[in-house]
Amino acid sequence: MTPWVRASLRDLGTVGTDLLVVGGGITGAGIARDAALRGIAVTLVEARDFGSGTSSRSSRLIHGGLRYLEQGRLRLVLESLRERAVLLRLAPHLVRPLSFVLPFFRGERVPGWKARLGLTLYDLLAGRGNVRRHQTLGKRGLLEIEPLLRDRGLTGGALYHDAQCDDARLTLATARGAAAAGARLASYTRVLALRFQGPRVAGARLRDELTGEETDLTARLVVNATGPWCDTLRRLEDSTAAPLLRPTKGCHLVVPRARIGNRHAVIFTSPLDGRVLFILPWGEWTYVGTTDTDADPDPDAVVVEPADVVYLLRSANALFPTAHLAEADVVATWAGLRPLLAADPGVPASGRSREHRIVTGPGGMLTIAGGKLTTFRVMAREVVDRVARLLGRSASAGRALSGQVPLPGGEARVLDGFRAAGLELGLPATSVDYLVGQYGAEIPAIYALCRQRPELKEPLHPEHPAIAAQVSFAVQRELACTAEDILARRTRLALETSDHGEAARGSVERLLEAERRLS
Ligand code: FAD
Repeated sequence: MTPWVRASLRDLGTVGTDLLVVGGGITGAGIARDAALRGIAVTLVEARDFGSGTSSRSSRLIHGGLRYLEQGRLRLVLESLRERAVLLRLAPHLVRPLSFVLPFFRGERVPGWKARLGLTLYDLLAGRGNVRRHQTLGKRGLLEIEPLLRDRGLTGGALYHDAQCDDARLTLATARGAAAAGARLASYTRVLALRFQGPRVAGARLRDELTGEETDLTARLVVNATGPWCDTLRRLEDSTAAPLLRPTKGCHLVVPRARIGNRHAVIFTSPLDGRVLFILPWGEWTYVGTTDTDADPDPDAVVVEPADVVYLLRSANALFPTAHLAEADVVATWAGLRPLLAADPGVPASGRSREHRIVTGPGGMLTIAGGKLTTFRVMAREVVDRVARLLGRSASAGRALSGQVPLPGGEARVLDGFRAAGLELGLPATSVDYLVGQYGAEIPAIYALCRQRPELKEPLHPEHPAIAAQVSFAVQRELACTAEDILARRTRLALETSDHGEAARGSVERLLEAERRLS
């Protein structure tokens, strides 16, 4: 039987679990995977779809973070660069190298010499796992590789290399990796309350958000991995708990790549406020981000405001002056809350990482707060080390597996062989390239669906390479429950088409219904 089945409330209620992880973003999925790989009985519950929180609203970079170098956070950069190398290996179909242009302009806060020094250090810290060494270029050289950049004040620049991933699919792959290692997964399953045995947290009251049914789940330990929601869950344990987080809002917008004409990813400082921004290529699209503003701490209320769009468009236009981007060019937007740690005198400056923190509540619930997409495995390892000790197990047994076992689809490094089979099936080359990039070594399962039911080769949307077989696959193996799960996260139709995927909605709903009847 496939392990990728949503656990029903009945299953969850009748059997207890050693570890209950609450929150199916990258952090919770990473913890469930690490724990399952170490042989711990673990259940992961998510109130909505996996990755539907912050983990599908990031800048999608798997990176060391040049900007942290400037802040002197060498340890964090080193750790992130190591993780970049590991993730490029564990999921080569999802995490891919990305070349960045860093232009130098006269009078900027960070002068060219300092940026060059920083990039040399970045390469050194990446060590043998480096993607490629950076290269510095004069003005003419830089304009040759990125011709539409503003040339006023430009003195030269650099080409360096990081990585990019589909954050929602990376989260999903991590959750599926957990299931493959024995974890039980339940999306659309919300923790309503914690259960106590005396003063100890001993499980949770769960509600199936699709049916409204409720049940109790007994757990020896509970981990709160709810990202920006983590203080809400902590208050179910301790109503007086002081907030751990002080989140900020980050927005991105998507425009057709041809409208900007960027050939690479570009990192630059906004002339409006000196903040570091990215212009990032994504197939035929470019996304621009991100804002960083104080936000209402309610993660359910985060939206892109007109002022966010104006700021990003004006910043991008200042860098690419021939683009003249206007609001009408914006195809889609997304906003998320950075789960940033509130300043706390209790956190030592020399702490292992100031980016995330694990706290134990009065009832024994562990909360992990802060962190990055890039470092999710490190965060998971630290949490599961503690969990293992609390459950009376060795913290070292199985500890290395999370860096060795590929994520689903990541079993093959070279994917070219899969292309020929797709073309033989009669799929268009653009769809084949796209599908191989989405599914990696799992692509034969998509081809098998196309062979069994040739109508599944049909495109889902006239503007997009996605095909109908992806809907069947999403229901059978990727725990998709709603049309939104498929339009927004299994495919990115909602962000990568001019009508937010609406032209595909009817067929997605019909295929979803047909799959449900079959299962
Ligand atoms: P989330 O993904 O938010 O997951 C928490 C989950 O908990 C949610 O899905 C929610 O539905 C669920 N939940 C909440 N309450 C309950 C409940 N009661 N019961 C069950 N489930 C519940 N990092 C990088 O490394 N690279 C980047 O380029 C990058 N860019 C970023 C850009 C922006 C704008 C932002 C906001 C963040 C960025 N980050 C980046 C950081 C990264 O995205 C986050 O650190 C990470 O996604 C947080 O994951 P999480 O699992 O902790 O939280």
